[in-house]
Amino acid sequence: MGRLRFATVWLGGCSGCHMSFLDLDEWLFELASKVDVVYSPLADIKEYPDNVDLALVEGAVANEDNRELLLKVRARTTTILAFGDCAVTGNVTAYRNPLGVATAVLQPVYVDHGDWNARIPDDRAVVPILVDKVLPLHAVVHVDHFMPGCPPNARTIRATLEALLSNQTPQLDWKDRRFG
Ligand code: SF4
Repeated sequence: MGRLRFATVWLGGCSGCHMSFLDLDEWLFELASKVDVVYSPLADIKEYPDNVDLALVEGAVANEDNRELLLKVRARTTTILAFGDCAVTGNVTAYRNPLGVATAVLQPVYVDHGDWNARIPDDRAVVPILVDKVLPLHAVVHVDHFMPGCPPNARTIRATLEALLSNQTPQLDWKDRRFG
């Protein structure tokens, strides 16, 4: 088998899942011997490429930029793994959902407590437009595998990647999934 085209994607999350990925330490060298990293915030590649084999997607869909990127990732990727609880359930990113639509958050932040030129930003080039309801990945696109945890620990990430790189179904360690 040739080298696998590998991506990691950061949507509406705190980047803690990517930090846990870096906890793989020296195993990252082994991973690097088997894959080409074609997109990742860690590699600062701007455009999501075609023909990606495997993508780990951190975070929920919290804004229109997240939604567009996720649709592009789905169209260009063979296997998507929901990476961490925000991707799997919405988790922390979805805490605002009980408040209702996005303006219920934006109004107090930008207008009620704004002290100069108070208005809700509407220039998408400056601030992404929030979706009214934060969604887990599988509510927007088909997801092939789920890795819960906030964040998933490095042991779980390694076991999952080893399985996927061997064309096996990952067996997640549910006992260890909560803490890094
Ligand atoms: Fe951060 Fe936890 Fe969400 Fe990962 S699952 S992005 S660590 S809040």
